[in-house]
Amino acid sequence: MKNVIIIGAGMAGLGTAWRLSEHGYKVNILESDKIIGGLAKTVKIGSRSLDIGPHSFFSEDKEVLKKVLDLFGDEKGAVQYSKKRKMKMIFKGKYVDYPLSLKSIFQMGILSPILSFLSFLRSYIRLSIISLIGKKKKNENPSIEEWAIDNFGEYLYLHFFKPYSEQFWKINTTELSYKVIPSRSKKINFASTLKHLLINKYLDLAKREPGELSLQERESLPTYYPKKGYGEIAYRIGKKIEKKDGIIYTSQNVEEVILKPDNTFEIKTKDKVFNSDIVVSTIPINKIINKIKPIPEKKILNSANKLKYLSLILVYLTTNKRNVIDCEYCYFVDRTFNRVSEMDFITGNIGNNKENLLIVEISCHYEDEMWNRSNEEVFSLCVKDLIKDNLLKKEDILHYEMLRVPSVYPIYRKDYKTHLEETKKYFSQINNFFSIGRQGQFYYGDSDQMIRFGFDTADKIINQIK
Ligand SMILES: Cc1cc2nc3c(=O)[nH]c(=O)nc-3n(C[C@H](O)[C@H](O)[C@H](O)COP(=O)(O)OP(=O)(O)OC[C@H]3O[C@@H](n4cnc5c(N)ncnc54)[C@H](O)[C@@H]3O)c2cc1C
Repeated sequence: MKNVIIIGAGMAGLGTAWRLSEHGYKVNILESDKIIGGLAKTVKIGSRSLDIGPHSFFSEDKEVLKKVLDLFGDEKGAVQYSKKRKMKMIFKGKYVDYPLSLKSIFQMGILSPILSFLSFLRSYIRLSIISLIGKKKKNENPSIEEWAIDNFGEYLYLHFFKPYSEQFWKINTTELSYKVIPSRSKKINFASTLKHLLINKYLDLAKREPGELSLQERESLPTYYPKKGYGEIAYRIGKKIEKKDGIIYTSQNVEEVILKPDNTFEIKTKDKVFNSDIVVSTIPINKIINKIKPIPEKKILNSANKLKYLSLILVYLTTNKRNVIDCEYCYFVDRTFNRVSEMDFITGNIGNNKENLLIVEISCHYEDEMWNRSNEEVFSLCVKDLIKDNLLKKEDILHYEMLRVPSVYPIYRKDYKTHLEETKKYFSQINNFFSIGRQGQFYYGDSDQMIRFGFDTADKIINQIK
């Protein structure tokens, strides 16, 4: 049987290994971290179990859902079930229900809906005239600015799309592809625009291009949360792989992937060398490309190096105050952070813990000013904003922890598609090499979708070899 090496033990790598090991393959996984799970891991700090941001499991993929739930069998209480998630947002300093409803439009203040409508109408008339006189050239790849003004009018662009996008991505909206916004509606009419605004989750920038279901439908799926932390899913998949003689090497950062003349591979970490017939990489596309020997052409390297990821700082606040945001997630504009989540609501364990855990998320670029601030500085900035919004008092906070995670959100700049296609074309020409997952495909998605990626890749390998 062919020898397979998987680089990265996140959901995509574990999904591939899980399926392959069930078909008799003895897989080796190389993971740079001390623990497995990637973005879906749970880190233990003292007595605290901390997920990489708020995670819960949901899926419309029947096979993936069943296999994940079967990991827990009928162990009592091993997986908590919680209902549809509830979210809020702050729009121009006011708390409004999210997704937006008629009520929340009025919560924004009486002027906002009127000005939004008038500005939308102006944009609509302008576009209609341009298209009537046949002057409008179709812009296949508009920036957020162009897309939002055309579809929503200048008012909502300036007061909503621009501030939120720039706060999240830390990039000017003129440079970001409209693809960062999950839009299905191409028609420009007020009804579809309103529907888009009310129904589609613009703010959930981490989730787009989903499979069969729309974003809203996925949000409505029942969610599950393992009692010992989200990372328990990865841990249990790991155990399944090991039971089938698979080996997961942790603390093994892959440094070099050598393409040998006989179409096999040599993979080097700091102190180990592995040989394999097939490689599945799930690490960032701009990282793996720089480990390949012989070094790819400059043009390919330049393209791959232009594909960048946004990083995330996570501040975990243990508080003695409960129901701080009174929902799973709250999104913010004009604050240090873009989202705060309350774990009691996510785990479905409301009011049962002695202490409450809030996760405050700050998106930033790797090694930018925010990334390089000291923990104390970041903490102070967050607390200042939480106090300003009357969510917490300083004395409510018992304790804090902080994690910095690089390569979290692929950044869709205006030119990303060209660079991505170029890079993927290069990988597709290497026999028996697969670059998959959120990082390897430069694709936003959830854990279940990454497990599916892994299953499908494993099936390709199994069928190729037959
Ligand atoms: C804040 C946040 C909230 C989320 N919420 C949810 C949610 O509620 N539900 C849900 O289903 N999904 C959620 N997701 C998405 C989910 O976490 C990811 O889609 C999924 O974990 C990605 O898996 P992956 O294997 O593709 O990538 P990763 O998890 O990034 O795995 C890549 C692995 O490669 C390893 N690696 C990197 N470089 C090397 C190297 N040189 N050598 C060896 N190993 C290396 C990394 O350590 C990592 O373990 C969320 C994501 C974030 C960031």
